[in-house]
Order: sequence, then structure tokens, then C-alpha cells
Amino acid sequence: MTQKSPLATTLEIASPTAAKKARVFSGIQPTGELHLGNYLGAVRTWRQQIEEGKDETMFCIVDAHGITMPYEPADLRKNIDAFAIDLVACGVDPEKTTLFVQSDVREHTELAWYLAAATPKGDLERMTQFKDKGEGKDFVSTALFTYPVLMSADILLYKATVVPVGEDQLQHLELARETVRRFNHRFPGEIFPEPQPRLSSTPRIMGLDGESKMSKSKGNTITLFENKDEFWNKLRTAFTDPQRLRKSDPGRPEICNIYTMHKAVSPKETQDDVVANCTGAKWGCVECKKVLFENFDKELVPLRTKRAELSMDKVRQALGDGASKARRIARETIKEVRSVMGLGSLAQE
Ligand code: SF4
Repeated sequence: MTQKSPLATTLEIASPTAAKKARVFSGIQPTGELHLGNYLGAVRTWRQQIEEGKDETMFCIVDAHGITMPYEPADLRKNIDAFAIDLVACGVDPEKTTLFVQSDVREHTELAWYLAAATPKGDLERMTQFKDKGEGKDFVSTALFTYPVLMSADILLYKATVVPVGEDQLQHLELARETVRRFNHRFPGEIFPEPQPRLSSTPRIMGLDGESKMSKSKGNTITLFENKDEFWNKLRTAFTDPQRLRKSDPGRPEICNIYTMHKAVSPKETQDDVVANCTGAKWGCVECKKVLFENFDKELVPLRTKRAELSMDKVRQALGDGASKARRIARETIKEVRSVMGLGSLAQE
């Protein structure tokens, strides 16, 4: 029996008009090298979308979002390169999609300012992510507060019609949709389409501590291209069902992050084995993790090979080409926006 693809289980809340290709925009923050959560939660689905070719896709490394929290410039620079090469190795092929770095297309920040004029401060104050990230911090930047406006600009700049999101990003997307309604009501021309959320049912991968979503800032990740020994050492210590103190204790796969990962990379028969052997107290957790490790290895071998063959210079060149392609669309949008908003001297148009 074939495993159900995450894309096949993608739930479109509302689909754009059928005849025209949807323009799908996705962004990812360069927080270091790609980790398992990035790959299973987003990037693998991107690859499938590109391969299917049903939509026009744009994938953006959102470095300007990466400066909303305290950071080191040298690390950001390094992370952009690392993310780019990892994404290409994972099949985000610049020949088949538009892959670029956000700040290479300055129109993102320009449009964010214009959209800020149409975004009520109260809406930003309601954003839960701002509260979560800012709480208890000595320094909370204005950029963190206005982050959702830049996110709206990322999407609207390309008049994207579909935005794949996780539950935690729905609130930001709703703000973008509200911004479209406000902007189109306030200014003539109905410039922006309302982007539709595409809620992915790909698994939410928890961190190794089992407490929160896998995230570089929490230090609970396994990097995708980690060497095999390191990969195993980290996986071996990952949090499982706390009720399983001994092998003879029956486990609860449905609450275990290791089982969630099995569902993402292991064949259906193995998933069934995990359930039977966990609930029947036949496998210990290390045994279960070993099987997972082997299946990860099968999935990752071709990606590792591809990554070893890639040259950073070529990837950078591809990012430059991607930015040029994106800029062509961005400039047209900005021209329209400036015109309807009454901005500029006209001499520059
Ligand atoms: Fe999780 Fe596997 Fe252990 Fe069950 S046997 S608790 S699924 S690691």
C-alpha cells in the first residue's frame, strides 16, 4: 500500500478560480541549516508542488524577518547560504521555481511601509506571535511588532493567490487578507487578490525535548545534513512517551513524536508495526528509533549526495536570477500601488 503524500492530504480552505494557475508564495526564515522540522513540515511539500507543476511557485528566504530579533550579521549571512544550498539539495530546484532572498528585492520593505498605512495598530497588537516572542525580553524591536505587515507585503507584492500555512501562521495570513480588503476599499483598482490559505496537514514535528515545535532558537533540532553519528546520537535521546519507563510498559504512539516522524518517513507497514509493538510493549524506544533512523537514512541519502555535488557559487547565481525574476513582478506591483496611493513625482515612473 502506498503512503499518502502530504500534498495529497493538503486541505484547501477555499480554492482559487480553477482555470488559472494559482501563484503560491512561501517564505522560510534562515535560522541556520535546515532541520527535520523544516523539511518534513514544509520543504518536502514544496518539492512535491514543484514536481507536480500545477501551480506557479515562489519560494523566498525571508532574511528581513530574521532581523526582527537580536542577531549576529555574520551568522545571518552564513545562514542564508546554508539555507539556500540545503533547499536546492532538497529539490527546491531554481530551474523549475523562483527561489530568491527577500532583501534582494527591496520592494518588499517598500510595500510594507505603504501597507502599514492601511493596517490598524490594534490589529498588530492582537498578534499572538508578537506577544509570545516579545514577552519578558529586554529589547523588543519595532520590526518585531510590524513583522506581520512585512509578511503581508511578501505575499501581496506578487499578488499570490495561495499561501501554504501552518496553524500558527493563520492569524498573520488573515491579517494579510484583511489588509487586501482595506486597501482595495480605500484605493481604486482592486489591485490585490485575497490570498487563500492552504492548510497543510503535514505533521507538526516537535523538538527533541518533546515540549515545543522543533526550532533552532529552542536548541531542540536535528539538522537535516548532520553527520550520521550525530544524527543518531540526537535521535536516540529524543523524548518519547513519558509513561514508558521500562520496555514492559505499554506505550501510546499517538502522543509520541517518534511515531509522528515514522508517519512522515516510514512505509505504512512499518507504521503499523510501531503501533503494535509499542502498545504491546514488544519494542523498546531505542529499537523503535533505530527503525526510524534507517528510514530517515533512506530518505536522506539522495539529498546528501545532491548537496555534496552543489557549488555555492552556482547556488548564489541561481538566487540572483530568482531575485531578478521576482523583481520584475514586484516592480509592476509597486508601480500600481504608488499610482493609486498618489505617491511620487511621476517623473520617476
Ligand atoms: Fe514512541 Fe516508539 Fe517508544 Fe512507542 S516505542 S513510545 S512510538 S519511541
